[in-house]
Amino acid sequence: MEVRWLGHACFLCEGNGVRLLTDPFGKEVGYPLPREVVDVVTVSHDHYDHNAVQVLPGRPRVIREPGVHEVEGLRIEGFSVYHDEVRGAKRGRNIIYAWEMDGIRFCHLGDLGHLLEPATVEAIGKIDLLMIPVGGVYTIDARGAFRVVEQLNPRLVLPMHYKTPPLKLDLAPVEDFTRYFDRVRREKVLRVGPGGLPEEREVILLDHPA
Ligand SMILES: [Zn+2]
Repeated sequence: MEVRWLGHACFLCEGNGVRLLTDPFGKEVGYPLPREVVDVVTVSHDHYDHNAVQVLPGRPRVIREPGVHEVEGLRIEGFSVYHDEVRGAKRGRNIIYAWEMDGIRFCHLGDLGHLLEPATVEAIGKIDLLMIPVGGVYTIDARGAFRVVEQLNPRLVLPMHYKTPPLKLDLAPVEDFTRYFDRVRREKVLRVGPGGLPEEREVILLDHPA
């Protein structure tokens, strides 16, 4: 399988012969718009920096509800959580998605705004690769993200939703998060083959388009 970061909460994940894209953003965000031809799109919640499905070419299947979705041979599970720490009163709901590609179990947290309930951790189950917001302000901050990593216990951690030069939103930089970890490396593209997961947890900082 292969993962590229297109900026913000948008990743292109390829595996099982399927191209899945998470949380496409609109032009106000600052990165070049995602223009990938894909099979499936997941939308964590209806904010412009996550739901800009209209910028994508073609007619991909769009998933924007919690529950189990069988699409293109993938089983994608959506778990309903909140975009804030007050059960949605400030910013509404958010959906966490989990699916498996090439034997690797992925999880994308969207704009998670709180630590996970034990029941949610149990429902999500075993995770190999976690895409997690770390920039705070609208989501969990670096420290909260570190605690959510501990809750879900993945081998690979891909931070997202943090300040970079192209981003027009004022979020915290990724260094606030990576300082909690010993093993951090940069990659253009993440490729993991069968049995290719690291023994110990690694944080992967993917390059973004500028
Ligand atoms: Zn957002």
